[in-house]
Amino acid sequence: MTTATTSAGRDRLRIAIQKNGRLSEPARALLASAGLSWRESRDKLFCYGESLPVDLLLVRDDDIPGLIADGVCDLGVVGRNVLLEQAGERAEAGKPAVFREWRALGFGGCRLSIAVPEGWDWQGPAQLAGKRIATTYPNQLRAWLRVQGVEAEIVVLNGSVEIAPRLGQADAICDLVSSGATLAANQLKPVLDILRSEAVLAGPVAPFGDVRAELADLLLRRMDGVLRIRDSKLLLFQSPREALPQVLQLLPDAEPPTMCAVDGSETLALQALCHGAMTWQRLEDLKRAGARGLMVLPVERMLA
Ligand code: ATP
Ligand code: ZN
Repeated sequence: MTTATTSAGRDRLRIAIQKNGRLSEPARALLASAGLSWRESRDKLFCYGESLPVDLLLVRDDDIPGLIADGVCDLGVVGRNVLLEQAGERAEAGKPAVFREWRALGFGGCRLSIAVPEGWDWQGPAQLAGKRIATTYPNQLRAWLRVQGVEAEIVVLNGSVEIAPRLGQADAICDLVSSGATLAANQLKPVLDILRSEAVLAGPVAPFGDVRAELADLLLRRMDGVLRIRDSKLLLFQSPREALPQVLQLLPDAEPPTMCAVDGSETLALQALCHGAMTWQRLEDLKRAGARGLMVLPVERMLA
């Protein structure tokens, strides 16, 4: 199985995903729930699509935008942070934009944040003027500083950014944060986010001019179907007709419910697709409002 052909005239779609890391499993799970299945190559770099002509290339996340730019891959699942950083790098070098975000995928959430020593009395971005800021995201930091009108020195590091202030390499940092525990362990505090990131489906700026366009459309439609109902549940219940307004008030995240009268009574049987979490607390509130026989069902896929 060769992986090094160019994009021109390909009749299969090739998607790059992270080989090992935070985005690998959720990316595979999402693509599998869109109906894809694969046979893995012995070197575990390539997965040959069996159910559809859609193959996977397993790579480092940082390589994904470049693989799309070079036409080695058609699409990729990558953090917005990585995609924007490399887009910024191309723009800075005067190169045209060739890839962009096609869809936000709802997993791999994190923030690219400015963090300063805990002892600082944070007043705002102007406080960074003349300071050294360590980061692995120089392009996004530079763009943000420019918008803020702040001049600071950017110290580009390849990793372990959070220890830079303790080592005296920098005064502040700009790094990915999810829980903040790593920052606290290094006596730093996040003060503002310059980007909210999550995994995205990245693709070319220009449309595909061949059969890959149809494949990509099909995949997007299916992915949208999965994403739209990702946290959704189908709620089945009964309610006396007069309690309905109070009950429905507790379901602001529900699609308009389907309802029918239970024969010979003032009771209605309802089903509603709810997009928010259906906790015990909510069910108990619904019961107090008059709902009965509440049942929460998982929703696997949806075709509007
Ligand atoms: P690779 O070997 O593929 O280069 P990596 O070490 O760069 O792996 P991971 O740590 O798996 O990558 O992170 C991949 C992506 O996960 C990040 O680019 C980011 O979009 C997202 N992410 C979510 N939460 C975090 C976090 N707490 N720290 C770092 N990245 C996170
Ligand atoms: Zn990486």
